[in-house]
Amino acid sequence: MTEIVLTVPHAACQSTPNRFDHPCDLTAVRAAQALARALPETKVFTGDLPRTVCDLNRVECRTESLFRRILTAYLAGNHDRILALLDIHSYPPWTRDWTNYEIILLVESAGHSPWIYRVIRDGLRARGISVGVLQGVSNDIQHEAWLKHGVPALLIEFNESLSQERIEAVAQAVAMSLYKPSV
Ligand SMILES: [Zn+2]
Repeated sequence: MTEIVLTVPHAACQSTPNRFDHPCDLTAVRAAQALARALPETKVFTGDLPRTVCDLNRVECRTESLFRRILTAYLAGNHDRILALLDIHSYPPWTRDWTNYEIILLVESAGHSPWIYRVIRDGLRARGISVGVLQGVSNDIQHEAWLKHGVPALLIEFNESLSQERIEAVAQAVAMSLYKPSV
């Protein structure tokens, strides 16, 4: 069990985000690519539908999108080799209450992140990255991974003001915390 599945559900942009509208996650694809470089073994799934068509984190989209159908098949066939699923998002820096953090971890109430959120939270903080932890709600990608397949799942939100250098630092810190937690 060494593989990390990375999902980027809000990768598809239909319109340009502005201060009032956040139709897609601007930094999430770059963040997932940085994680894929930093981690020894990953599989990346990138969303195919804009959020305005279907929010790929929601149960309604489990069968509606190619992205979710491929992910469902992959989890069913490979869950015994997957260490965890990280659902990668990004948020505009002016998001209320999130603005002072570099990273927000959204932890689902149903116990989806039994150890992984503590390991990643502590690993990031130990390396000087500011991390907020909030309660996530009804993330069906995480539900599917954990409740159907026993794969620990965590949603990671990147602040869109982070530089590429800082994104790389976060990715390195995630990799270190997962594979060398005592370093
Ligand atoms: Zn998102």
